[in-house]
Amino acid sequence: MKLALVEVGRVPFDVGALVRRVNRSQACFELRLADPVTNIGDPDIGPYTYSFRKLARLAAQRRDPADDYIIAIASVPLQDNYFSEGLPDQNAIVITTHDADLLMDIAQRSIDKYVAVEIVANILALEFQRGGFDEKRLWHFAPVGCIFDFTANKRDMIDKVREARIHPICMGRLLEANLPESMLNASQVILREIRKIPLKSSAYDALGNPILGFLLGGVVASSVVDSLKETFPQVGVYATLILLLGVVAFVFLMHVRYNYRRWRRDRAVAFPASKKELPWYPSKENVESSDLYKHIAR
Ligand SMILES: [Zn+2]
Repeated sequence: MKLALVEVGRVPFDVGALVRRVNRSQACFELRLADPVTNIGDPDIGPYTYSFRKLARLAAQRRDPADDYIIAIASVPLQDNYFSEGLPDQNAIVITTHDADLLMDIAQRSIDKYVAVEIVANILALEFQRGGFDEKRLWHFAPVGCIFDFTANKRDMIDKVREARIHPICMGRLLEANLPESMLNASQVILREIRKIPLKSSAYDALGNPILGFLLGGVVASSVVDSLKETFPQVGVYATLILLLGVVAFVFLMHVRYNYRRWRRDRAVAFPASKKELPWYPSKENVESSDLYKHIAR
């Protein structure tokens, strides 16, 4: 199935990278990055909202006869305050990152994951409709972390992208509608990719940066202070800090003491000291002058 992605206006992420990533993970959906549409004109609903049809029409300028679906990706407020909409008569999908960008900050997920979830959900819903079923049977108002969560409350998008699953009832309906198994498997592969959190977290990145690493150290120290304050609420912040400093100083002094002793021992081995420096050195004079020898010799 060939899908053409068209940036309509400014889009706050690398659509090409999303295309490459989805294409690498599976073979059923073949994504193509079409030329962007830069001039989107004035909003056609009220002062700042664009209709589904206007954005779909703009994206359709880039349609290739081989494309099964054309997907318009925009960042403007969308008709009815929607995140996305599928247009079955035009084989088009319209997706906006408006509001979703802020929600993905909270979800700690990249915006391209949100776009990928919306693509999978809308393609499956359009194919469901193509099979003669009403798509209203698929979308549900109850938020369960399923890609068919309607997200009437926009915040539910946080869990929708974090969970990125097709819940069993919806999967049952898709199977009932005889959607090809290859398509459902490919969808599951893409959703699995979306669920993955990159191993290199932003905190790990920050450690590599001297300034951010230092600030992160500050954050760790302050969280230690906070947890201590919770444990001992009667202890003030300064008392806690002095306590912490005391612990650090103690550890440091023990470390110095240990190293000094080791240094002295190594030095003694490397440069055997004179008899005078080490009175226990077993020379004849030392032995004869020792109290123990005198005691035994008596
Ligand atoms: Zn569901």
